[in-house]
Amino acid sequence: MRIAMIGAGYVGLVSGACLADFGHAVVCIDRDPDKIASLNAGRMPIYEPGLDALVTENVRQGRLAFSTSMREAVAEADAVFIAVGTPSRRGDGFADLSFVFDAAREIAGALSGFTVVVTKSTVPVGTGDEVERIIRETNAGADVAVVSNPEFLREGAAIADFKRPDRIVVGAEEARAEAVMREVYRPLYLNQAPIMVTARRTAELTKYAANAFLAAKITFINEIADLCEAVGADVQAVARGIGLDNRIGSKFLHAGPGYGGSCFPKDTLALVKTAQDAGTPLRMVETVVAVNDQRKRAMARKVIKACGGSVRGKTVALLGLTFKPNTDDMRDAPSLAIIAGLQDAGAKVRAYDPEGMEQARILMPAVDYAENAYACAEGADALVIVTEWNAFRALDLDRLRQIMSSDGSAPVLIDLRNIYDPASAARHGFTYCGVGRTKES
Ligand code: NAD
Repeated sequence: MRIAMIGAGYVGLVSGACLADFGHAVVCIDRDPDKIASLNAGRMPIYEPGLDALVTENVRQGRLAFSTSMREAVAEADAVFIAVGTPSRRGDGFADLSFVFDAAREIAGALSGFTVVVTKSTVPVGTGDEVERIIRETNAGADVAVVSNPEFLREGAAIADFKRPDRIVVGAEEARAEAVMREVYRPLYLNQAPIMVTARRTAELTKYAANAFLAAKITFINEIADLCEAVGADVQAVARGIGLDNRIGSKFLHAGPGYGGSCFPKDTLALVKTAQDAGTPLRMVETVVAVNDQRKRAMARKVIKACGGSVRGKTVALLGLTFKPNTDDMRDAPSLAIIAGLQDAGAKVRAYDPEGMEQARILMPAVDYAENAYACAEGADALVIVTEWNAFRALDLDRLRQIMSSDGSAPVLIDLRNIYDPASAARHGFTYCGVGRTKES
């Protein structure tokens, strides 16, 4: 199959490289000339484990190419995927579909022969109808079928997720479009592909329902964590106790600083707007959004409290800035709100992240960036673990205690991911503060 992938970001680049790896001929197109120049020079514009090798190999094999121009690749394609961004629209929080519609218009002008146009971007219900309308309006003679194929990959594990997905949802209204989609994904499976074919609107909504459910699960355990702190219970044990029940499942039950990233915040908000517009508000999701928004700033207050009520003039060291480990993505990361809250309260903030500092420097110029975890902690009054990178899971606590500020009292370790054992941290001379854990529990 010949495939054009519009948008070479986290989703487009990973999907394009994986589809090429399945044997398809793929051209990834992006309107950002720097991104395409960097890809053509063999440099990855994003950090995603394994991506560099996958891209290099498929380029070498002649199955993967990059361009800023759609014309040729779209004309030759059997399937054109739209994988451009759909950020929150400023002001009302609805998904900004301008990138999708721009792409649709440009695709329309380049189509030739029967082509399936596939929306991989996360888009509100009904967007496929609008994409189809735009294409027909721009190119009345186009022989096209518009399909929804939402993407469920996770940054940090994107390649494995794309190659071995739990399911592939295809919203197609025509048999010939369904046949093309089955052919695109056929190489993934020797036997039965977990492809689920639905109506287009159903596929679009499935993506939002999945993200809202996962966001709700995180928010639920975060609120239970707060209750644990208030009543002297341990959220880690509660999560395990409920997660071992198959009906609940143990994933997404890790208490922490609130969800962030490029998907959950914007997708929950967009779903709330869609539901309000449809006259069927999703009150549960509305509450999830509100609770999570408040939580990030509350984490700054938690740090301040752990520091004895004031951080003015103190140095607070943060480990982990990205919204989760194994990515350089800083979009809507909890660290942004936590750092703003600490700076507002007069703290000097120093930070280290294995991959996120290039992006972080642009977003937070007033932070002092360190070379590694120990340089970050040196002389600091408090150390806050915000993102659970592997590199932070087995720090030398004795060394940390020695290099942190010692005005006689124990340095403070605020572990927003509960990766350290409270008793062991105390034995190493730290005043430990986790999430949803108390001394009594
Ligand atoms: P991204 O911002 O990393 O990439 C989008 C790319 O599209 C950018 O490089 C941009 O330059 C390019 N672009 C925009 N308009 C274009 C146009 N008209 N022509 C060509 N290129 C254009 O975004 P992303 O994180 O890859 O997300 C893409 C979509 O996938 C979003 O809808 C997102 O919600 C969804 N999604 C993301 C993830 C994730 O983990 N990032 C997971 C599942 C779904």
